[in-house]
Amino acid sequence: MARCLGSKCKQCRREKMKLFLKGERCYIHCPIDKKGAVPPGQKGSRTSFKRMSDYGRQLREKQKIKKIYGISEKQLKNYFKKAFKNKQSTSEFLLQMLETRLDNVVYRLKFAPSRSLSRQIVDHKHVLVDGKKVNIPSYQLKPEQIISLNSKILETAAIKKSLAEKAKMPDWLKRKAAVGQIVRFPKRDEIEADIDDQLIVEYYSR
Ligand code: SF4
Repeated sequence: MARCLGSKCKQCRREKMKLFLKGERCYIHCPIDKKGAVPPGQKGSRTSFKRMSDYGRQLREKQKIKKIYGISEKQLKNYFKKAFKNKQSTSEFLLQMLETRLDNVVYRLKFAPSRSLSRQIVDHKHVLVDGKKVNIPSYQLKPEQIISLNSKILETAAIKKSLAEKAKMPDWLKRKAAVGQIVRFPKRDEIEADIDDQLIVEYYSR
């Protein structure tokens, strides 16, 4: 299954919560803030209170994480397989891998206001890792690697605005101007994501 490319707001409504898929804009104009999290479709309001089975809850959580990080079913399944083989807690390692993807780190460093724009600037070869161009959004970063932007993208309004905003970095990252670094791998409680990762582990362990 491909990445979810439908209307971003519809994707949030489907999960009945704000997933912040449009970055900063989600704090200003959000239909969920105005009308509540009504699922899309004519029957949305009627189906929203249906009691969900355990499988349904696991499935929705899995869909949610895919939407948040903008990844495909195949990618998530591969992340899970790697996490399952790892000695660390499966759910923590799964989230750690997602958090240390290059596109996510560019977003967390506040180089770009949303994950979709982060992915775009990585795709278009504007991001450097240890001084070399990397255009793979899923590139897995390790502690001490340096992430920076090329001079061309630093001239664009959205990136300038994002960099100008005062932003508190998570403790596992540091940034000075347009240069960031991974200090260490993030711990579970440092990962800002409203996800019940255990449900995802249960889904793939069936
Ligand atoms: Fe749309 Fe952002 Fe609100 Fe989601 S959080 S519904 S993407 S405005």
